Amino acid sequence: MDTLTALMNGPLSPLYCCIGDPVVGNPTQYMVEEAFTALGHPGRYLTIEIPAKDLKDAVKAIRTLSFAGANVTAPHKEAIIPYLDTLTESARVSGAVNCITRGSGNTLIGDNTDGKGFFRTLASSVPDWKERTILIFGAGGASGAITASLVLAEAKEVVIINRTAEKAQNLATRMQGISRTRVRAKAWNGTYTIDEDRLIVVHATSVGLFDERAVIDVAFKRGLTDVIACDVVFNPTKTQFLSLAEEAGAVTLDGLGMLVEQGAIAIEGWTHKSPDRLLMQNALEHAFSIR
Ligand code: NDP
Repeated sequence: MDTLTALMNGPLSPLYCCIGDPVVGNPTQYMVEEAFTALGHPGRYLTIEIPAKDLKDAVKAIRTLSFAGANVTAPHKEAIIPYLDTLTESARVSGAVNCITRGSGNTLIGDNTDGKGFFRTLASSVPDWKERTILIFGAGGASGAITASLVLAEAKEVVIINRTAEKAQNLATRMQGISRTRVRAKAWNGTYTIDEDRLIVVHATSVGLFDERAVIDVAFKRGLTDVIACDVVFNPTKTQFLSLAEEAGAVTLDGLGMLVEQGAIAIEGWTHKSPDRLLMQNALEHAFSIR
């Protein structure tokens, strides 16, 4: 059904939004609307800047205006939790919500599709992911979501490496004992050299977003033949980290694939239909080209 048919004949278009602060430059609305149109879903999607002080009222408005779903971005991913009714396992374990769906009786369910998006991209590209140790650089929100998804999927071993060692240790401590996954923290003092095969190495710091020249202090030993390198940074898609990894012979997975997949999982939750990932990726690339 299209939006005009929904308007004239009902039921009215379901409403969705992305809330955060700032939100200018966030391409989610465009990606989701392109996917909705291709699916024949009459949903309308708004991008709304909500300062932290208004978050509680914003969630109340989402309920009152019967929004069918929402995305939540920085700085609200953790702060929104007390205002929701239920959390999915991924939101509970990661301690962050980036997606809201509707439950029965006007309830709001907080989900974390960032981690799920990362995990689906990894698992579909690396069949033996479960046999590999996974190193994650960074201990912020993205790292937390990714670690939670790996722990819930019973990865073999996750090592969190962060500039501020205490944050890595806190995250590791929070994730220990949730499943059989071994989780530990390591300090990141000076250059960290990836010097063995069979690793999955994930860059999950905030370094390099919209900055093609930004480098992190990670090196790859020459002669590696079997390393997978993943980046959460989605623009540029070819980060310095992935370029270095590729030069060293690693297989790479960029952050754009994760961004598409977390959006696709949200759309599946809202519409119960599977959106066209390639179309979503093209939408993101187009949006970034005019930024
Ligand atoms: P946070 O602010 O929560 O965490 C930032 C992390 O980066 C911290 O671990 C911080 O270390 C580290 N860091 C920052 N600067 C440096 C530096 N110069 N050297 C080493 N480490 C540094 O950010 P998020 O985790 O929310 O976001 C990280 C990235 O993930 C962003 O680029 C975001 O856009 C991206 N992202 C991508 C998604 C996707 O779908 N592709 C989804 C979600 C996020 P310290 O603790 O020492 O300060």
